[in-house]
Amino acid sequence: MKTLVFLEHHADGLTKPSLAALSKAASLGGEVAGVVAGSGVGELASTAGPFGAGVVFVADDPRLESPLPQPRVDVLAALVRDEGFDTVLFAQSVLAADIAAALAVRLGAGLNWDLADLVESGGELIGKRPALADSVWVDAGWSSTPRIALFRSGAFDPVEVGGSAEVRAVEPSLEAHSLLAELVEPAVVEVSGRSIEDADVVVAGGRGLGAPEGFKAVEELAEALGGAVAATRAVVDAGWYPYAAQVGQTGKTVSPKLYVAVGISGAIQHKVGMQGSGTIVAINKDPNAPIFDFADLGVVGDLNEIVPPLTELVRQHRGG
Ligand SMILES: Cc1cc2nc3c(=O)[nH]c(=O)nc-3n(C[C@H](O)[C@H](O)[C@H](O)COP(=O)(O)OP(=O)(O)OC[C@H]3O[C@@H](n4cnc5c(N)ncnc54)[C@H](O)[C@@H]3O)c2cc1C
Repeated sequence: MKTLVFLEHHADGLTKPSLAALSKAASLGGEVAGVVAGSGVGELASTAGPFGAGVVFVADDPRLESPLPQPRVDVLAALVRDEGFDTVLFAQSVLAADIAAALAVRLGAGLNWDLADLVESGGELIGKRPALADSVWVDAGWSSTPRIALFRSGAFDPVEVGGSAEVRAVEPSLEAHSLLAELVEPAVVEVSGRSIEDADVVVAGGRGLGAPEGFKAVEELAEALGGAVAATRAVVDAGWYPYAAQVGQTGKTVSPKLYVAVGISGAIQHKVGMQGSGTIVAINKDPNAPIFDFADLGVVGDLNEIVPPLTELVRQHRGG
């Protein structure tokens, strides 16, 4: 097996989900390489070595500065053809999904998306995809190579295995049509605090908070615990909290060590985004709320009476 992993980067380095995809590739064995495409990205390449990349290809070119898919499709398609990769892995993001889809068309390759795992069985690669509101697992395979896979965000964590990567510069040969699109203006949503994908503790708020102002108590508890704030779709749709914080089927998948659900009923579409958390604590006034069926610890009562004193106790305990 010869695997290429797309290593997406932001201002602060390679993204955690793409390093996690690299770790997954390394765990499956064979030759594993990464590719970084951007402008001024030479330094980033070596940071992938400890996560299992034997080689990291770097396409460093001012024409790759904007996070646009088509020039990156040119870079990856050339690498797959020239280096003979049989598998290309992506971690879910808007950019990665665009590149993966266009690369599949360019190479006439099969793309399996929304995979939560990838395993090797009898010499074949099998993608594991949750289906039917995540109530069953589906095995997804490929009938030819190269195989392209797009992993669900938060499906796994990066694993440092040590080692260093050989960094190889590649000269991107970009098609004229790939340079036609231009980034006019980036629309960046500023989110304060830690990202919910990276945090060890996530405190999530739902409709039970009663109003957008209810999130203040959730933010204070999260701060006391050193965690990040998440939300259900009901409150995101109501405009109480930004979409970046939404956990669930149409939001993010998170797996912190501790997930505190405040005023959340526990609908299946929310559950699928947080059921991999280490310990789930639910605070809900309805003893029959579905969340108590899968919470490790349930507190039945009014969140307005429970959350502020809990925050105070945490602060005292942590000496803050
Ligand atoms: C296709 C599809 C995709 C979806 N994707 C997502 C998704 O990605 N993420 C997601 O979260 N949802 C998603 N949903 C919506 C989902 O079905 C639920 O509607 C949503 O999760 C409910 O949010 P909630 O728990 O905040 O609100 P509710 O279901 O209204 O629950 C509020 C809870 O708060 C409790 N409560 C009320 N007052 C208090 C109080 N004072 N103290 C303590 N508890 C209190 C209530 O007992 C209740 O259990 C999706 C739905 C569909 C159809």
